[in-house]
This record gives sequence, structure tokens and C-alpha cells, in this order.
Amino acid sequence: MQFVDEFRNKELIQKTAQEIARRVDPKIQYRIMEVCGGHTFSIYRFGLHELLPPNIELIHGPGCPVCVLPMGRIDEGMSLANDDSVILTAFGDMMRVPGKKGSPLELKAKGRDIRMIYSPLDNLKLAIENRDKKIVFFAIGFETTAPSTALTLIQAKKLGIKNFFVFSNHVLIVPAIRAILDSPDMRIDGFIGPGHVSTVIGCQPYEFISKNYRKPIVISGFEPLDLLESILKIVQQLQEGRNEVENQYNRVVRWEGNRTALKVIQEVFELRPYFEWRGLGFISQSALKINKSYAQWDAEEHFQLNRIVLTDPKSSQCGEVLKGVLKPYQCKLFGKVCNPEHPVGALMVSSEGACAAYYQHTGRKEGITDSL
Ligand code: SF4
Repeated sequence: MQFVDEFRNKELIQKTAQEIARRVDPKIQYRIMEVCGGHTFSIYRFGLHELLPPNIELIHGPGCPVCVLPMGRIDEGMSLANDDSVILTAFGDMMRVPGKKGSPLELKAKGRDIRMIYSPLDNLKLAIENRDKKIVFFAIGFETTAPSTALTLIQAKKLGIKNFFVFSNHVLIVPAIRAILDSPDMRIDGFIGPGHVSTVIGCQPYEFISKNYRKPIVISGFEPLDLLESILKIVQQLQEGRNEVENQYNRVVRWEGNRTALKVIQEVFELRPYFEWRGLGFISQSALKINKSYAQWDAEEHFQLNRIVLTDPKSSQCGEVLKGVLKPYQCKLFGKVCNPEHPVGALMVSSEGACAAYYQHTGRKEGITDSL
């Protein structure tokens, strides 16, 4: 198959859904986590959850980069915009993520110089055009976007650009999956592995899931047929007592990953000893810091940022939803108080956030209770 409509073929979708229903044991409850926010979006956009037997429960994982960023870290980045010499830049999703004192977009409305960019390389153009300013890029994302930040830093070094800085919030998916597997309140039977991240890291880093935790993981594409095929493969593995790393998305993902992308990550970044994740707490070696060779472009080094520790608003339940303990509509704020127009938590901002996906695609606009 090559074309997108082939992966959305109704007949094949129905056939695959029927095959899943035929394979599952009705006496067993299957809890399958889709790690990636892009998968959550596709599942609800195409209504795939409605095609599955009732004993398959999909748990939404931590693979939405803006969702897992803790509030304190958002405020740390935004504090840079208070400096008149700074132009703070970010991708579109990041612009609406609420910190304690509002989102970057709200701060921009109050007169701070915060700009949305489409590529990290836009920063270099801004730096060249605004030599009297310091351009600070609020970088977020998993291994998928880390190579483009790394390449921008390599280019800045090559061009001798001195007024560009990166506030790195790049995180790694494998330590997060390990933390989920080690969490005592989690019971996951299998994983739909992230497609985008795996184009960079490949399949081998997931082998510990099958070897040490005896769970299946199937790296999946994002079209309806991709996701249903991946669920079918997980069910087949569980029924046959297997736990393997399978690559359903082999038209894009190579087992060994993208060596060039991995090399540029290695050139620019080093592992942080630990990093805080919203909902999951501190996870060791789960994020990337700019290394010594590129320290002069590191915003944390240059601005000597103070660490800000903040807890989420008491009534929000982002952490529980991120860990899959609660469904989005079970959060007390879902719908009336927290919605895509006025997000209280980050999971309602990005289209990849579980709460936004539920709100926009399931027709469910209110939580199970409106009492606050
Ligand atoms: S509804 Fe809002 S506050 Fe509640 S979990 Fe979702 S994003 Fe967080």
C-alpha cells in the first residue's frame, strides 16, 4: 500500500476490526497503551475506539511533548521574555500552554516579544536580522524534534552566531515508558509504540520491554489501518504468549533508526541526570541538556535561570490522565472549566493531548461531574 486512502479503506478497516474481535478472549480485559499523542489523535479522529471489542481498553500515554512539561519549567522559559533584550520563540503548540501566570500567547498580548516559528532555523534568521537582541528558542519535543534543534545549533556554531540561545526541554520516550512500567498503579498489557520517535531511534531501544517486562510492543503508523493492525498484532502476541518488539510501521521506521539524526543529537546534547515530567515526577536520564561544546548557546547557562517548582492547580487531574489512571472526561474540570478555548491543563492544548482529542472528536463535552 502506498496511498493514504488505502490505509483508510472501510472494508479493510472493518475486516481488521472483526479479526481483532474474533481473536480476543472475552474473559480477559486487555489494557493497551498508545504511547504517542499522534496515535491518540488518530484513534479519536477516526473513531477507532468504537470499532474495538469492549474488553480492549486504550490507555493514553505520555507521548505529547507539551503535555508532559511541568508548569514550573514553562514559567522558567517564560521568565526570559521579561528581559527587554530577549525575543522568545516557540512552536505554535507551545504558545497556548498555560503556566502559572498565563501562556506565552497571553504574555505576548501584554507586550512581551514572543514569536511563533515554524522551524528552528527561523531562529538563525531572526538572530542575523536582530543583532542587538538575544533570540531564545523554547525547544520542546521528543527524539523526533531534537535533531532539528541540534542541527540549528551546529549551524549557529558554523556561522559564528552569538546572539542565539536554546532553552532545551527535549525529552526521551524510553525512560518514560520504563517509569510507567515501574509505576505500581499501572497495569498495561501491551504498547502501541510511537511511530515518529521510532523513525529516529529505531526499534532496538524497546527490547527491554519484551525482555525485562515481558510485554509486547508494536511500533505503529498513524492511519486507521495501521493502528488496527498494530492492535491485532498485540492481541495475537498476548494470545500466543509472546512478547516481542514488532514493527508495523516498517514503510517508515528502520530497525536501526536514523543514524544521521542520532549522530547530531549526540554531537550537541548530553543526558540530564534527571528531569521532571508532569504526572510522572522525576525520571532519571530522561531529557537532553546542551553539552559543554555548545554551552555558549545554552540559555540555562547564559541566563543562569532559577529553578521554579510549581504544582498543577489542585482541581486539575492532568497527572492521573497522563498516567492513564483516569480518562480525560473523569477529570473534574473537563469540558466546562477546561476546554480548548480556555485550557487549564496542557493536555487540552495540543491536538495530540488526550483531553483535546476527547473533547474534539468524541462528542463528549462535559466531564462526569461539573461540581467544583
Ligand atoms: S481536563 Fe484539563 S485539567 Fe483536566 S486533565 Fe484534562 S487538561 Fe488537565
